[in-house]
Amino acid sequence: MKIIEDIDEMHHYAMQLRHEGKAIGFVPTMGALHEGHLSLMRQAREASEHLVVSIFVNPAQFGPKEDYKEYPRDPRGDTGMTRTADVDTLFTPSPSAIYPEGYRTYVDVEGLSGVMCGRTRPGHFRGVATIVLKLLNIVRPHKAFFGQKDYQQTVIIRRMTKDLHLGVDVMVLPTVREADGLAMSSRNQYLNPEDRRSAAILYRSLQEARSQFDKGEHSAERLREAILGTLKYEPSVQLEYAAIVHPETLEEVREAGQGTVIAIAAQIGRTRLIDNILL
Ligand code: AMP
Repeated sequence: MKIIEDIDEMHHYAMQLRHEGKAIGFVPTMGALHEGHLSLMRQAREASEHLVVSIFVNPAQFGPKEDYKEYPRDPRGDTGMTRTADVDTLFTPSPSAIYPEGYRTYVDVEGLSGVMCGRTRPGHFRGVATIVLKLLNIVRPHKAFFGQKDYQQTVIIRRMTKDLHLGVDVMVLPTVREADGLAMSSRNQYLNPEDRRSAAILYRSLQEARSQFDKGEHSAERLREAILGTLKYEPSVQLEYAAIVHPETLEEVREAGQGTVIAIAAQIGRTRLIDNILL
């Protein structure tokens, strides 16, 4: 596995691979890799001739009071994991190279960035869109792979790649879960044992909504009540939002149908977790 830190080196290498006609697959991550990331890498491996994984904890997507400094970092473990996933190139640029003195350019995907997680994390998706665009420009992949776990992010990235004619296929892969249903996340390590147990209620609440939907309940209001009713059993879980939305516009729907997305965000102790399902 080749490890590249330098941006120009990565770009030149990618251009050379393209010139050789290699199909480049790309999985951008913030590291502290887990089975969710590995599943993206495995499927990207299958779909590409050259697989690039990036690890970059992106300061631009963290708010001033958020966990940029504490965000879990495990460069050694991550390198081991990427080797086992048969990654060809691991790209690990430094923050000062990505955002040098005088950096001024940001991407705003309007509307989609201000709802759901965007309400409590202003600027978050501007940071996400900016780093993803920069990485796509450097790595020049044919296909880029993202997890459904960050549903709003996938919608924003799809929109951006289309709006800016980036010519990359955005692939979205299913959420990988722990045995009790909790969506895997680098932030799960913040949870103490008690909060970790309580966190399983998030997915259970989504499953309850799905089961009501399957029984014929399509009113978004009622489905939201099913979520709130389930979450009541874990008072330590503070719901931030439960949104029942159109899968592309992220607009709230009154009646849920096939393809409607139910997304939630909640605070457990000091940890903020998100999850979602597609009906
Ligand atoms: P992150 O390192 O958290 O920025 O995530 C990097 C990529 O992995 C994003 O596309 C995430 O959506 C994806 N990802 C994170 N957790 C999971 C999971 N549990 N299942 C599937 N994909 C995931």
